[in-house]
Amino acid sequence: MSQFWSPAVRELTPYVPGEQPRERLIKLNTNENPYPPAPGVETVLREFPADHLRLYPDPESNALRQALAREYGVEASQVFVGNGSDEVLALAFQAFFCHDRPLEMPAITYSFYPVYCRLYGIERRALPLDDQWRVDLDAFTGNSAGAIFANPNAPTAHGHSRDAISALLERITDHVVLIDEAYVDFGGESAVPLVAHHPNLLVTGTFSKSRSLAGLRLGYAIGSRELIEGLERVKDSFNSYPVDSLASAIGIAALEDREHFDACRGKVITTRERTAKRLKELGFEVLPSQANFVLVQHPGFDIAQLFVGLRERGILVRHFNTEALRDFLRISIGTDDEMDSLIEALEGLCR
Ligand code: PMP
Repeated sequence: MSQFWSPAVRELTPYVPGEQPRERLIKLNTNENPYPPAPGVETVLREFPADHLRLYPDPESNALRQALAREYGVEASQVFVGNGSDEVLALAFQAFFCHDRPLEMPAITYSFYPVYCRLYGIERRALPLDDQWRVDLDAFTGNSAGAIFANPNAPTAHGHSRDAISALLERITDHVVLIDEAYVDFGGESAVPLVAHHPNLLVTGTFSKSRSLAGLRLGYAIGSRELIEGLERVKDSFNSYPVDSLASAIGIAALEDREHFDACRGKVITTRERTAKRLKELGFEVLPSQANFVLVQHPGFDIAQLFVGLRERGILVRHFNTEALRDFLRISIGTDDEMDSLIEALEGLCR
């Protein structure tokens, strides 16, 4: 606490990201991709003219937006890009959710959303999950400042179908429904095609997970022109150049390589299913996952102790010390070799 801080800053409870360890660990704690980005990314890094960095980037990131528009079958005017989807989310909260009514979100979802609520003074209405740890779409009332959830949800990993999302959007028409699709490429169904029929739908995505570019910081939103314009108004009141020219060129190169993208996500999905099966054989309860992680609990063992035991064996997973998630570990899907090491360590710990 400092006398120099603004009063609102004293009240903040910042988001705590997963640890980035200095030592070499098998790192299964922040849902990064175990495979390298597309080879074209390496080419951009080698060939990008340093002299280009003398100039400011295109404030509208037109080339990257056009590449995303091609990828998703929308107009470039329906695409917004930012410095990681966290930044896009932060701008969206300010653009759409600052009203006198509470913002509705699942009680268990991406833990950054409540942080943004506090930052902007937005009241939050937390909706319980259903009895299978799924986001309860029927719980959203429409009498709110808006709705937000991750689909697939984090850290519970379940994803709703496009039809289910469509039914929600038939019901909620007078405020923004924001669907965070950070993990959708690992088996979920994207809501982007619904953007054409629902001017209040905003879908966010990221290059951090399925495109193996977490270190680059590139995220995006797709929605109606009026929503994108709202985001641009906030962005241009905050930072005109959130996406640098190198990041933009790398993002375009990553989007161009569909074969690499499909191969990597396919491998993650196969490894996830294999890992889930082996975890179940060890007595773990594994929530069904459409993401690049699994959320697990074990009726016979103290999860916090398993977390420590894994760490001692050089394996880092995520344990959320909250009431709802205390009994769970979230395990990111790594390579087959990394998951073999995890299973081997757990076999030792769960004896
Ligand atoms: N949404 C969800 C659900 C996430 O888990 C994450 C990663 N922590 C993000 C958004 C942010 O991803 P990034 O800022 O790397 O695009």
